[in-house]
This record gives sequence, structure tokens and C-alpha cells, in this order.
Amino acid sequence: GTPTALMVGSGIGAEKGILIRNGEAVQTFKDVKAIAFDKTGTITKGKPEVTDLITVEGVEEKEVLYFAGSIENGSEHPLAHAIVEKAKDQQISLGEVKDFQAIVGMGVVGKIDGVKILVGNRKLMQENKIAYEAYEEELVRLEEEAKTAMLMARENQLLGIVAVADPLKEDSIAAIRELEAMGIVTAMITGDNRRTAAAIGKRVGISHVIAEVLPDGKVEEVVRLQEKYHTVAMVGDGINDAPALKQANVGIAIGTGTDIAIEAADVTLVRGELSGIISAIKLSKATFRKIK
Ligand code: ADP
Ligand code: MG
Repeated sequence: GTPTALMVGSGIGAEKGILIRNGEAVQTFKDVKAIAFDKTGTITKGKPEVTDLITVEGVEEKEVLYFAGSIENGSEHPLAHAIVEKAKDQQISLGEVKDFQAIVGMGVVGKIDGVKILVGNRKLMQENKIAYEAYEEELVRLEEEAKTAMLMARENQLLGIVAVADPLKEDSIAAIRELEAMGIVTAMITGDNRRTAAAIGKRVGISHVIAEVLPDGKVEEVVRLQEKYHTVAMVGDGINDAPALKQANVGIAIGTGTDIAIEAADVTLVRGELSGIISAIKLSKATFRKIK
């Protein structure tokens, strides 16, 4: 009967590093027509590193790293960790920050010695009327190299650009390719800018790239996929992926991610390998063949 088959299925799942928290997921997996993936920490390793440092004329690299590193020290974002690590590598001692503020989808702001410091994307610079247009070509070049470029400003002036790259997980390309070969539509949902997202999407072979999505917008994107493909899985690791994991017909968390994502999901990929999804789908199909 069903219960035995489900237990057998879950047992095999555990062997493959798939932890099934909700038994219904074993049944739903076989019907999944589309899978939405978060980018950072799901498709990529979630460990971005600084690759490029560009300064405006007359500004030292160390100055940019000091200001950016000090502000980012207050942020939990993987982009922030990359900058703080780079500053520490250069033996830069970070400054004290006041009035720290993280602005969703844009970046971070704070004061060092009473001077306003901003680190973030174009939107953050536009909101603060900071001119960066002279560097637009440079930004585009970095983004087309699949890097995330962050602008750093002091008061009303741009001081530099810090770019980071986050390598793909070893099995991301193979897993996406196999899912597509199984006839499953793959999509990436990210808050990152559209050019960086497109470059990563192309490298990994994902068919739909949905970029510049605010954290609250991920649920909406899953709903939109459900309207089109009916049964949709969502894969994510972050706190802000949790509502989308709940909304999806199957929520899949990355085991190395946040507890909040794991609690919101039906299934956990213990080692964080995307190939676990393929095992889960095969498991679902095999289990329910046995029952029939
Ligand atoms: P994701 O989880 O896909 O990276 P977010 O919504 O967290 O999406 O971030 C969207 C964008 O906002 C980032 O690509 C970056 O440009 C900017 N941003 C967010 N947090 C920071 C930060 N701590 N420092 C600099 N930029 C940031
Ligand atoms: Mg993530």
C-alpha cells in the first residue's frame, strides 16, 4: 500500500542525501513541470570573491576597501562577506559605523566619522543622486563576465567599484541539463541585476532568467510559473526564499542554507547538490509505479 511505498521511497532518498520532511512531496515530484531556482547559494556556491577593484581618479584602492569593508561588516549578505574578507586580506582595520541601514534590493548605507558611505547597485546611486554614468561601460563589461558590480560612494561622490564573482556549484550545469532533457522547464529567480543573471543563466544552461526581483517578489514569480506549468518546485537556501518554498508545490531547501528555508521546505538536499532533485524525481516515479 501507499504508506510502505512512501517509507521505502524516503529511505532511498536519505541514502542519496535527500531528506524528505513531507511525505506528500514524494508523490508530487513526479508531476513537476517547472523548477525555479534561487541563484546565490543554490546554483552558485554562495561564496563570492572580489575579482575587480576600480577606483576613480585620485582614490586609493585601500580607501575604497576601508569604507566598503567597514560598512559591509554590518551586513549578513554574501556580497558583504566577500568585501569584508578582501579588506581583511589587505590588513585594513575597519572603522566604526553609525546609523547602519540595509536597503532591500539596493545595498547598504552608514556613517563613518560622520560621513555618509553607500555601497550598492545603480538603484542605490540613483536614489542618492550620485553620478556613476561615466562608469556605465565598465559596469556592463563586469556584468557580462557574470560578476556582480557594487558601487561605493562617500557623501555625494563615487569613489570606486568592487566586483565579485560567485562560482557555480560543481554539478549545477549537469543537473540543469538533465532536468531540461527530462522535459522540465528550469528558471532562475534572483535579486541580482539582469545582465549578471543572464550571464550566469547562460553558463548554467537555464531556460528562463527572472532578475532584479525583490525578496517579496519571489512568491509572485512562483505563482506566475504555477499558472503556466501547474506543478512547480522551488529550490532555495535563504531566509527570503522561505515564502516561495512554501508557495511551490514542492519546496526544496539547500541543506547548507538557513534553518528558515529548511523549515519552510518539504525536502532538503542535505549536501546542497542539485543532482539530488533528479534522484528525487526518479524516486517519485519509481515509487508510484510500484503502487499502481
Ligand atoms: P540576491 O539574494 O539574489 O543576491 P538581493 O535582493 O539580496 O538578491 O540583492 C539584490 C542586489 O542588491 C544585489 O545584487 C546587490 O546589487 C544589492 N545588494 C544587496 N545587499 C547588498 C550589500 N550588502 N552590499 C552591496 N549591495 C547589496
Ligand atoms: Mg540564495
